Amino acid sequence: MKELHTGNLYWPVTLGSIREFAPVRQNKKTQVAIIGGGMSGTICSYVFNRSGLSTIMLERGQVAGGTTSADTGMLQFSNDFMLCDLIEQIGERDAQALYRACRDAVNMLAITANSLTVDVGFRRRSSLYYASTEQDLPKLKKEYETLKGCGLDVEFWSADDIAKHFPFRKPGAIVTHGDAEVNPLLFVNGLANAAADSGLVIHEQTDIVGHDTLPGGLHRLRTADGYEIEAEHVVYAVGYEPEELRGKLIKAELSRSFVLVTGVQQNLLNWHERFLIWETARPYLYMRTTLDGRIVIGGLDEKIEQPLHSEQERHKRSENLYGQLKELFPGLQAPIEFEWSATFGESRDGLPFIGADPAWKNVYYCLGYGGNGSVYSMIAAHLLRDLIRGDEHPLTGIVKLDRKSLATV
Ligand SMILES: Cc1cc2nc3c(=O)[nH]c(=O)nc-3n(C[C@H](O)[C@H](O)[C@H](O)COP(=O)(O)OP(=O)(O)OC[C@H]3O[C@@H](n4cnc5c(N)ncnc54)[C@H](O)[C@@H]3O)c2cc1C
Repeated sequence: MKELHTGNLYWPVTLGSIREFAPVRQNKKTQVAIIGGGMSGTICSYVFNRSGLSTIMLERGQVAGGTTSADTGMLQFSNDFMLCDLIEQIGERDAQALYRACRDAVNMLAITANSLTVDVGFRRRSSLYYASTEQDLPKLKKEYETLKGCGLDVEFWSADDIAKHFPFRKPGAIVTHGDAEVNPLLFVNGLANAAADSGLVIHEQTDIVGHDTLPGGLHRLRTADGYEIEAEHVVYAVGYEPEELRGKLIKAELSRSFVLVTGVQQNLLNWHERFLIWETARPYLYMRTTLDGRIVIGGLDEKIEQPLHSEQERHKRSENLYGQLKELFPGLQAPIEFEWSATFGESRDGLPFIGADPAWKNVYYCLGYGGNGSVYSMIAAHLLRDLIRGDEHPLTGIVKLDRKSLATV
């Protein structure tokens, strides 16, 4: 099992009692089996279940115990790759279609979160995407025009505009409206519980260690405990774990990232409308607030796959992040309370891996690589549902595993 995070996570302390789901203890049959119970697997399971597909979700550990519990819960329509760059890579029509789909996916996440009976910390927020340097300004202005041309709800703020709303000055920024924040752990647990109440079958502590195809075309999954699950369709929502797929189907780079959460701040009044904040530098610094007034800040990605073990070294990264936070918001007082390191995956062309296995019938992948994994998961849930039903989906060619944009990277 891959170690996905180290350190002291914040989200688990916000969880009340956790519902447990029993492991598989007998052979089973289903229409769809989803392997992985993180953000991706759970959103897919939820959407499939609501669409009438009989589904079993199989999780090796606990629901949301993987990368999802290290996620910072920012839900934005802008991706790590600017729209103007994506247009050069895959053409205007497809790039615009993807960005609009991301906007729509944030809206679907809003409807989904608001339909749950528990408050999962979902709140609509705008984002400030600032130019890290003067050199980044022309590109940022171009991106603003491109986003506007795509019909997205954006403004451009000058350095003075920024200084009017925040205690810092930056050369310029795009403000995007229609983004959101969520507590990822509460959200995924809330979704799993709601779907289980309406018929989704979930098994935790169920490690899938074998997968073959029977002569009639059915798929047979084998658990580490020796049970079998027969499924017409199998979805891999295994996060950053598919070692054997990488290099073949999955062209991605894994790195490690760092996050800290402060104590509750006495005064967040100069944090304009609790915006989500990020920047044009790569790797980028990103930050948000929590409902109880903490600050979550992440970044400092390093090209090393394993999360950092040394507590002392992790704390050095946190102090660096904290220093950058204090430069932006000098008045903040509350100290660091939580800090962690986590593996982070990015595809080489900036797009997620969503779609059918090109060589294995009725096997699919839902791998939302990149900083927008949750938004991609919502897109994936609808796209894969359509493929399973035999319907078409407009984004299939853009995010499929054997897409053209991956052939050249
Ligand atoms: C520090 C950090 C911050 C991030 N911030 C954001 C953010 O603000 N917004 C955003 O949208 N995205 C963010 N992301 C990305 C996002 O976290 C991921 O895209 C998303 O959580 C991944 O969810 P997942 O379900 O794909 O993976 P995971 O949560 O890792 O779930 C995969 C699950 O599959 C299970 N599994 C694997 N193999 C098997 C097997 N053989 N049998 C059974 N189960 C198996 C694992 O146990 C695991 O629970 C961030 C990522 C990191 C690291």
